[in-house]
Amino acid sequence: MLHVNENYTKIQASYLFTEIAHRVSAHQAANPDAKIIRLGIGDVTEPLAPAVIKALHKAVDDEATRENFHGYGPEQGYAFLREKAAQIDFQDRGIDIAADEIFISDGAKCDCGNVQELFADDVTIAVGDPVYPVYVDTNVMAGRTGLNVDGRYEGLQYLTCDASNGFVPSPEVLKDFAKKPDLVYLCYPNNPTGAVATLEQLQAWVDWAKTEKSLILFDAAYEAFIRDPKIPHSIYECKGARDCAIEFRSYSKTAGFTGIRCGYTVVPKGLLAYTTDGKGLELRPMWTRRQTTKFNGASYLTQRGAEAIYTPEGRAETKAIIDFYLENASLVKAALRNLGYTVTGGDNSPYLWVNVKGDSWEFFDKLLKGANIVTTPGAGFGRAGEGYIRISAFNSRENVLEAIDRFSKVL
Ligand SMILES: *Cc1c(COP(=O)(O)O)cnc(C)c1O
Repeated sequence: MLHVNENYTKIQASYLFTEIAHRVSAHQAANPDAKIIRLGIGDVTEPLAPAVIKALHKAVDDEATRENFHGYGPEQGYAFLREKAAQIDFQDRGIDIAADEIFISDGAKCDCGNVQELFADDVTIAVGDPVYPVYVDTNVMAGRTGLNVDGRYEGLQYLTCDASNGFVPSPEVLKDFAKKPDLVYLCYPNNPTGAVATLEQLQAWVDWAKTEKSLILFDAAYEAFIRDPKIPHSIYECKGARDCAIEFRSYSKTAGFTGIRCGYTVVPKGLLAYTTDGKGLELRPMWTRRQTTKFNGASYLTQRGAEAIYTPEGRAETKAIIDFYLENASLVKAALRNLGYTVTGGDNSPYLWVNVKGDSWEFFDKLLKGANIVTTPGAGFGRAGEGYIRISAFNSRENVLEAIDRFSKVL
């Protein structure tokens, strides 16, 4: 008899988005004329930069000729893209990362989800609460947790991110943990809270990880939204991070590639994990082996499109699109603050994390029923998200201004 991977039965059904969809469609059915504005979207809304479109067209034409046709490419990505990423995202900022430490993929979600394959079944894992669910669910599927009890998985360590720590946990909290985590997932600028981490805060994690021989899995999917020059864009801005961190990057939110699909993962040379008898094994060749075995590369077209993000036009155009989202965020943030709400995020991030001074689902309903506005209840991202809603800046200006107008009427 075929036995199923029962770890899948532990995964909490995606209650959050199903429940939102359910409440929104019930509201729309009862109010067919209501013009609903969705402020909960985690997907970009603006079209791709013209430089990217031009490069995509050219790449299509390449595929039409015998001389420029590209079939299978290198699984780790084309050198033309790896070199641009290494130079512009890291070396030009004084960060020591080489092209052969960059692995191009079809997005950060897959990489964040796949990376756990490199580690033993019994590693201890710490995640933030609230959290991007991919880090959690992929480890549940792999059998690294127990059952979900009251919204938290047994065996998983949760680092509470709330107003008391500015939504950035410190490794200090681990002194109360019986076992130190082997893997710590960090994501800054954060989804869902929109919080950013300072260099000192990240350095504390790096120093801790080096001492414990643990590994930081750093998700930098929103780094392009950082405008404050003091906020680090990469974990590798911290001293010693090459020895204890993997970093995930994505062109999804930074350049509107959610539909095109491209990102990359940085695995530095010399980064180690250990066998049971204490021998260090390099992770970079293991990740190379994993990718060459299970992945056949992001498409040539996609990578040519991504390369264009790094041209002077591409950089200026994608920056302008992000500036537009940041203006959306700043307009909503100012409006909610005027109405007396405490709001985190939005300055270096597309997300606003609003303290609703009560139950997140009740507030969700109040905005839905009173203003035809859809938000994301924070409780859906973890226990510590209760009392908050997430608002995203991915929207048209028209919708944002209309939503602000409606807020002032119901709040
Ligand atoms: C959107 C997002 C990603 C990017 O996923 P892709 O697969 O590259 O589209 C990664 N991490 C977080 C936290 C995100 O919100």
